[in-house]
Amino acid sequence: MIEIEHLTKCYGSFQAVRDVSLSIPKGQVLGLLGPNGAGKSTIIRIVTGYLPPTAGRAAVDGFDSVTQSHDVRRRLGYLPESNPLYAEMRVVEYLHFRGRLFGLPREDRRRAVERVIERCWLSEMRRRQIGRLSKGYRQRVGLAAALLHNPPVLILDEPTSGLDPIQIRETRHLIRELAGEHTMVLSSHILPEVEVTCDRIVIIARGAIRADGTVDQLRQKAGEAQRYVLEVQTPPGDAGVREELGRLPGVTKVDALAADGWMRFEVSAAAGTGDLREALGRVVGERRLPCRELHRNTGSLEQLFVRITAEAEAA
Ligand code: ADP
Repeated sequence: MIEIEHLTKCYGSFQAVRDVSLSIPKGQVLGLLGPNGAGKSTIIRIVTGYLPPTAGRAAVDGFDSVTQSHDVRRRLGYLPESNPLYAEMRVVEYLHFRGRLFGLPREDRRRAVERVIERCWLSEMRRRQIGRLSKGYRQRVGLAAALLHNPPVLILDEPTSGLDPIQIRETRHLIRELAGEHTMVLSSHILPEVEVTCDRIVIIARGAIRADGTVDQLRQKAGEAQRYVLEVQTPPGDAGVREELGRLPGVTKVDALAADGWMRFEVSAAAGTGDLREALGRVVGERRLPCRELHRNTGSLEQLFVRITAEAEAA
């Protein structure tokens, strides 16, 4: 649905994007993750046809972002980071205005405005002046405007920047709902944002792609060791469970801590070891020990992100 080939962008002598190639299939939700200044907005502006590349090309649904930008924009809903709105207009007026800019005929426009007001949970605010809305609601108005012409592709640049935690949660919820219906590109400098909303993450630093994969693939790449927690009641003085846990394939370490009559085991396994929860459960089950907890600490990609960014900076 989106093809980016050898994209390069220079601002004067400064290379903001360096030879980026990326293919985004229909229906995928892709997170562009990178620190501020990495080049995310520049890539997005080129794909959306607002900025010409210095070299390379971008296409949406087969249409070139420079020579066929009109066809590209027809297929795109774009929420820029700045989310420009007209503060004096009421929500419903603004959406009608945007619908007219898209050339939607009156009856279609009316239906489209009602559809996006409902879709973006704006019914209660439809007559409110935009300038009097909270930032979270303004973001929803921006999203609603981007959805008016029912585009198959949605591009959101830092959609939660500047929102408070509750607004962030609501916006993410809305994004997840929209994800089912659209091919989506979402840029962010916040890891959990893309981790919870995206099928695939592309890490950008200093204008180039540094990592690309699903959350699980990137975790493996990070070489993240797995950790499990197990709380059971063991007979006093019995070291058998700990020894048996330590003999499971892949286990590198077992820490044991006694507290209020329970034994808490923290089991570490090497990166690349499969899921050990079943094996851990079997050790406990075979001994018929009471168990009140068994879980895997999945951790986050934070380390990989930090390492990649630092390496790019150093280079
Ligand atoms: P991100 O969206 O990842 O924060 P940007 O694409 O906005 O990154 O910026 C990438 C780099 O290009 C930054 O160093 C930024 O300062 C620079 N840059 C962006 N826009 C311009 C511009 N219009 N003129 C000059 N430099 C720019």
